Amino acid sequence: GRRVPSNSLAGGNGRAALTQADYLGFFQEGLQRFHQFRDAGHDYFGTVIERQEGSHVWVDGRKMLMMASYSYLGLINRPEINQAAEEAIALYGTGAHGVRLLAGTFDAHRQLEQEIAKFFHSDDAIVYSSGFMTNLATVAALVGKGDFVIGDELNHASIVDGCQFSAATFLMFSHNNMEELEQLLKEHRGRRMLVIVDAVYSMEGDIAPLPRIIELCREYGAMLMVDEAHSLGVIGKTGKGIQEHFDLPDDAIDIKMGTLSKSIASCGGFIAARQEIIDFLKHTARGFVFSAALPAAQVGAARKCLEIIQRETHLADRLRGLCDQFVNGLRQLGFEVPPTESAVVPIIFSTEQETLEAVGFCRDHGLFVVPVFYPAVPMDKPRIRATVTASLTEDEIDSALSVFQALSTTQSQSHMERVLAAK
Ligand code: PMP
Repeated sequence: GRRVPSNSLAGGNGRAALTQADYLGFFQEGLQRFHQFRDAGHDYFGTVIERQEGSHVWVDGRKMLMMASYSYLGLINRPEINQAAEEAIALYGTGAHGVRLLAGTFDAHRQLEQEIAKFFHSDDAIVYSSGFMTNLATVAALVGKGDFVIGDELNHASIVDGCQFSAATFLMFSHNNMEELEQLLKEHRGRRMLVIVDAVYSMEGDIAPLPRIIELCREYGAMLMVDEAHSLGVIGKTGKGIQEHFDLPDDAIDIKMGTLSKSIASCGGFIAARQEIIDFLKHTARGFVFSAALPAAQVGAARKCLEIIQRETHLADRLRGLCDQFVNGLRQLGFEVPPTESAVVPIIFSTEQETLEAVGFCRDHGLFVVPVFYPAVPMDKPRIRATVTASLTEDEIDSALSVFQALSTTQSQSHMERVLAAK
């Protein structure tokens, strides 16, 4: 922020002031693409869910099988979690007395942080009020001017924003390309470097090659931060995430990030790390220091979910089986599904139009799936991004597959019609 120099207050630049219409026109322009979809009858962004029960949701009064949820373990709306949230409200109420560093810390916050630390075998943890804010504020606090922050090109937007927001030099390597990562690390050896990757890439569902990344970070002296948003509860024998998946020692990752909004049916985010790092973040990460504490209900719900994840370790296993059933079924039907190893199942189509028609077909047949387009994914890889949750049954996966089977028949028919019409 630059201040207005006092000697320029009387001056001006001679240009006409913008009007309200100028501003509204600018915003309208930004919405053009979405309005085109809507006007063509494909209004699939921001769909309103009226009710939810088990693996189903209600949209426009119609019951649909939910296959786009981040609640990977199917924990949303479990009575014991709702009850934990209610108990927390009864104890602490709904608001916050302010930021954590001043009057906003309840004992429940510290208990949750200690439980997260125990779960990941780290010294301590810090809980922020959102997952997005966790990445943004943590990256910007950990590196600054003169430092380097190096990330995979498919990292989540909150990481990218954190990298840009920090004063460090921001470098990217092609997705999972370890030669490029090594090159960058080699070039800047001896400087403070932070490498950041997603454990599971949110639009692809594939897993970062962590053992090699750790080797490289150690060799070239970089800190490593890993975002476990889509891996917690999902990968690893008992759902503990990427470290368990690769059977790595407790101290393999310097800074472990996670959200409380996916497998954990709450909201918020966290970092688990060594004591010095957690203490540093608690005093310097601006999105923590200057933002209200996570509400008690969310803290209570998150604590209960963490307890369930550790108690019901079969859930991750069950989820794996359902994912394999769905992915194998889709591939047998001829759909292009990239090599996902998580509960994220991308189904690639050739055009945005074809993707929208496919989403419409699925929704008409009682399947709640969503389209994902550029800039969230590359322009030439529009997709349905389906997710599998542990609350689905094998029969429900089969019924979803039969919808996709009918879709492939319809699509090949309309493809033939287009080919014939073109002749
Ligand atoms: N990291 C990743 C990889 C994510 O996918 C998301 C959200 N989709 C976030 C961070 C942000 O978390 P939250 O939605 O809890 O703010």
